[in-house]
Amino acid sequence: MKTKESVLRCVGEKEVVDLCSRLVQIPSITPAYGGDTTEIARFIKEYLEQKGVNVETHDFGSRTVALTSRLKGRLTGPRLILYGHMDVVPAGEAERWSFPPFCGEIRDGKVLGRGALDMKGGLASVMTTYLAFHEADAEFDGSLILAIAPDEEKWMPVEGGLGTQWSLLKSGRLQGDACIMAEPSGLGTITIGEKGEYWIKVTAKGKPAHATSPMLGDNAIEKMMKVLDAIRSIGEEIIPTPPELVNAIQSSKEIASRSMVEQGLKDKAEGAKRLLDHVAVNIGEIQGGTMTNVVPDKCIAKLALVLPMGLDAQRAREKIERLILKSGVSDVTFEQFSGEMAGSPTYTKPTEKVVKTVQENAKQVLGITPQLMIATGPGDANVYRRMGVPSIYYGPTGFAGAHSYDEWVSAADLSSAAKVYACAAVDYLAAN
Ligand SMILES: [Zn+2]
Repeated sequence: MKTKESVLRCVGEKEVVDLCSRLVQIPSITPAYGGDTTEIARFIKEYLEQKGVNVETHDFGSRTVALTSRLKGRLTGPRLILYGHMDVVPAGEAERWSFPPFCGEIRDGKVLGRGALDMKGGLASVMTTYLAFHEADAEFDGSLILAIAPDEEKWMPVEGGLGTQWSLLKSGRLQGDACIMAEPSGLGTITIGEKGEYWIKVTAKGKPAHATSPMLGDNAIEKMMKVLDAIRSIGEEIIPTPPELVNAIQSSKEIASRSMVEQGLKDKAEGAKRLLDHVAVNIGEIQGGTMTNVVPDKCIAKLALVLPMGLDAQRAREKIERLILKSGVSDVTFEQFSGEMAGSPTYTKPTEKVVKTVQENAKQVLGITPQLMIATGPGDANVYRRMGVPSIYYGPTGFAGAHSYDEWVSAADLSSAAKVYACAAVDYLAAN
């Protein structure tokens, strides 16, 4: 308890808001979208080093720089990672903002600007917690690690698109036993799982002929139309939820539905709930045929199937095979082209220590017990879980305003989040 008090005393309530504001003022659009994270990485490194902690730089080229730092406790013990990403999505059309997108202005209890919510607010909070541990000279065992990613916003399930965190974890340069990611879940919600992105490429083969004698050919595009209809029906089935996630799915449905209503999209509420136990299907790309007067002999379609809890990639594959067979269309094949690290959904068990410690400390610090939730798409937590690190999202202000115009984060939430992280870290790192 003494440790908690001493760390909490070092959480600067004003500093965290100022830090968030300064972070927003450095545009750091994801390098994959033409941006650059070198300047913000330099700023963060200097900010932390001025306060006396060492920061390691991992330059991945192409203006993509990840940072890590580690505070070592007295004895070996659990290793807890605090995570934030410093990249943001592009601002879009400047005239659609009612303030300059990178102003970082603090007004009416909010920090304003692109990335304030997703997630420079959370990033400022984890940095503040980390520094508070350092300044308080807190006694703990194990390690507290800070990991700052430059490329979360371009997360792609395909090989090569998995990003810096995957590289760092895979190479062993970053190691941990659990991770708290300060993504904007809202302080009343902990996201413990994410649906999986299972991407497939479907190929239909036919036989070419002149358009005036179609009976001599076999139209690959028409075959594809039937096959796509068949595959799409995978989205109609309710997927049974694993028993340990039933409550999380139920609360996720309520949250999703409420969020739609709050955004004035009441007619989308049912659809939002449905995502939690159904496959979402997107036919994203299609190519076929050579000329208008030729019966096409080949058609290729690419689909993103987003798999809910309870349906892994292997079973999804079997279902699709059966649906194609049932359609009766011949000469159709498909392959998964999202890599080894994608496909199946991932989750951290509700009983994991990192979930429990954050939940309990949110209750102690803020007087609220966060609900557990499942997200409808993957981000960096998915990579961490696949590398064996139980991971959750817990951060300031709800996700609804992320990537939108007039983005903002609640200033008061920043120190609240930092305090919960601090207390959760003390408990997590406490000797067993
Ligand atoms: Zn984010």
